[in-house]
Amino acid sequence: MFDYVITGTGFAGSVLAERLASHAHKKVLIIDKRNHIGGNTFDYYDEHGILVHKYGPHIFHTNSFDVFDYLGKFTKWRPYEHRVLASVDGQLVPIPINQNTINSLYGLNLNSDEVAEFFNTKAEKKSLIKTSEDVVVNSVGRELYDKFFKHYTQKQWGCDPCELDASVTARVPTRTNRDNRYFTDVYQAMPLYGYTKMFENMLAHPNIKIMLNTDYKEIADLIPHKALIYTGPIDSYFDYCYGTLPYRSINFVFETLDTEFVQPTGTVNYPTSQAYTRITEFKYLTGQKHKKTSVVYEYPTACGDPYYPIPKAENNIIYKKYKTLAETLSNVYFTGRLGTYKYYNMDQVVAQSLTLFKKIVHAQEAIKHNGHSATINI
Ligand code: FAD
Ligand code: UDP
Repeated sequence: MFDYVITGTGFAGSVLAERLASHAHKKVLIIDKRNHIGGNTFDYYDEHGILVHKYGPHIFHTNSFDVFDYLGKFTKWRPYEHRVLASVDGQLVPIPINQNTINSLYGLNLNSDEVAEFFNTKAEKKSLIKTSEDVVVNSVGRELYDKFFKHYTQKQWGCDPCELDASVTARVPTRTNRDNRYFTDVYQAMPLYGYTKMFENMLAHPNIKIMLNTDYKEIADLIPHKALIYTGPIDSYFDYCYGTLPYRSINFVFETLDTEFVQPTGTVNYPTSQAYTRITEFKYLTGQKHKKTSVVYEYPTACGDPYYPIPKAENNIIYKKYKTLAETLSNVYFTGRLGTYKYYNMDQVVAQSLTLFKKIVHAQEAIKHNGHSATINI
């Protein structure tokens, strides 16, 4: 009998499988309904031999030494700092908006203090920042909001930024310096041989069995197990008893061109009328040398695989009902972007699963010593 069945081979499930098998010596069955491991970070060599990310560009960045160090057991790293340009007013300018952006866009030569003053004169200061519109308008004003955020956000989320939590656009800061990097985290690197290789290393343990092309519901009653870790959508586990949690999906359209590089940075964002939001050129991310180049266009859509939980108050109310129900179950744990309905980056998911692992071990020790377990909140 397996100690744990883990549903989902993404970061959330694979971290727990690895920790439970190698550190807690448990027998684990990890399953996925897809035909590969790695969840949304899965990468593979396309028909031209170029390493691409099947579910859109994944750039690793974190401020957590513990997360970076833990993943470093399973991969070597290639240092990589992502840069993004936005196509605005016929120019390609840096996003996050910074000193270079303002000077290029308006033909100015402002220094850092002058850019701060520029933002102050444009900003519409809000006493309460509640929405994704408030965040941007409060810091740079409506004109830059319209140029960089309004349409991109409408495309990406299918709603106006004023309907989304502040946390969404707050992911993209405003700078007065000339730092053109997309992220400023302490650790910024890509797995040297790709994400899939890293996951293969994580799951290569004699206590871990992998079963692909299998939906949890198909095996739930067939395979005896003492506990379940579920990283699929939490509403699906409960057969949508409180209604469906909305997700945003994306159609990824790949293209390979007979040229070495096609755009000046890893990603170009299009906060414009095109139906796609951004184009990413993989060789910047992976460092691969090849005489051709592969790119992916992202077309957001309401239907399809659940990629983005939609951070809105009304959705959080539904999620809380599922979370409360989940906490009444014993030996069933939910983690990950879908399992806890959180717009988490990879490093946050790794940290969440490492924390859950510690809680599970702690609860088991409590049973051993006191005969009863500590409560585990997800
Ligand atoms: P997932 O990777 O979604 O894994 C869940 C797995 O569970 C899936 O493989 C699914 O098939 C499986 N599953 C679900 N239900 C069932 C079931 N019933 N039975 C069996 N299997 C099931 N993060 C970053 O840090 N940097 C980035 O640059 C970045 N870019 C991103 C770009 C895009 C387009 C997207 C969508 C996300 C991006 N992310 C990025 C976020 C990142 O993908 C997630 O944080 C991370 O992959 C979440 O891991 P997870 O294991 O929680 O979920
Ligand atoms: N965003 C935007 N314009 C941009 C970049 C981002 O409006 O040029 C907004 C948009 O709502 C997006 C959010 O900021 O969904 C977060 O951006 P991020 O690049 O972090 O999105 P992700 O990589 O998670 O898709």
